[in-house]
Amino acid sequence: MAKPNNFPDQRARMVERQLRRRGIDDERVLAAMAAVPREDFVPEQVRASAYNDSALPIGHEQTISQPWVVAAICQALQLDGDEKVLEIGTGSGYSAAVLGKLSRRVISIERVPELGESARRNLEELGTRDVEVIVGDGSRGYAEEAPYDAIAVHAATPEAPHSLLAELAQDGRLVVPIATGSADLLVAFIRENGVLRQETIGPCRFVPLIGAEGFNPPDQAE
Ligand code: SAM
Repeated sequence: MAKPNNFPDQRARMVERQLRRRGIDDERVLAAMAAVPREDFVPEQVRASAYNDSALPIGHEQTISQPWVVAAICQALQLDGDEKVLEIGTGSGYSAAVLGKLSRRVISIERVPELGESARRNLEELGTRDVEVIVGDGSRGYAEEAPYDAIAVHAATPEAPHSLLAELAQDGRLVVPIATGSADLLVAFIRENGVLRQETIGPCRFVPLIGAEGFNPPDQAE
């Protein structure tokens, strides 16, 4: 049995039990998940639980996503290493670090300035390159660097934001949790030969995407 806080062992077990056994079979994704230390992206108080099969609190009423969810989004993006990726919802910076291992460049947008700042610090301390964190409303996209080969959204939205669909390159993929009445559904939108098709990946649970093309902030909710 692993000693408490033997993080490398816990990480290897997480990859086998939470990911490989539950349908993640893209070896590049499994290798990236095996390489990024989730313990470095969670607050000290929950560090011992870093490899729990769950989301964990990171402050500001936000969470670092469950490892399986991060892996499922990365797998659905079908990255081969040469893509420019837009990520919405940096949170702790963990999924940005994983995406950074799978692509050429990542631009990650976070709405909460304090989280954006600590994610930048986490990524810097890990020596991550080619991942840029920007504070702003990612539901509007990020026209400055569009188009993107892949877009990952880590918060649930009533429908796929039109700005994000418009910034998707030819053959690009947008993976986004869509809020339905009962649960959220992880959906991939794929632009092929000028046509947008849709694939449902499965049920999931996310915090809301708050912004112009997401949900209203709590103080403006009707
Ligand atoms: N992927 C992150 C990680 O690995 O830690 C966790 C993301 S957390 C589930 C969702 C994040 O989306 C929160 O940090 C939240 O502040 C952010 N968010 C919500 N609405 C947003 C928006 N319109 N633009 C950018 N970020 C947003």
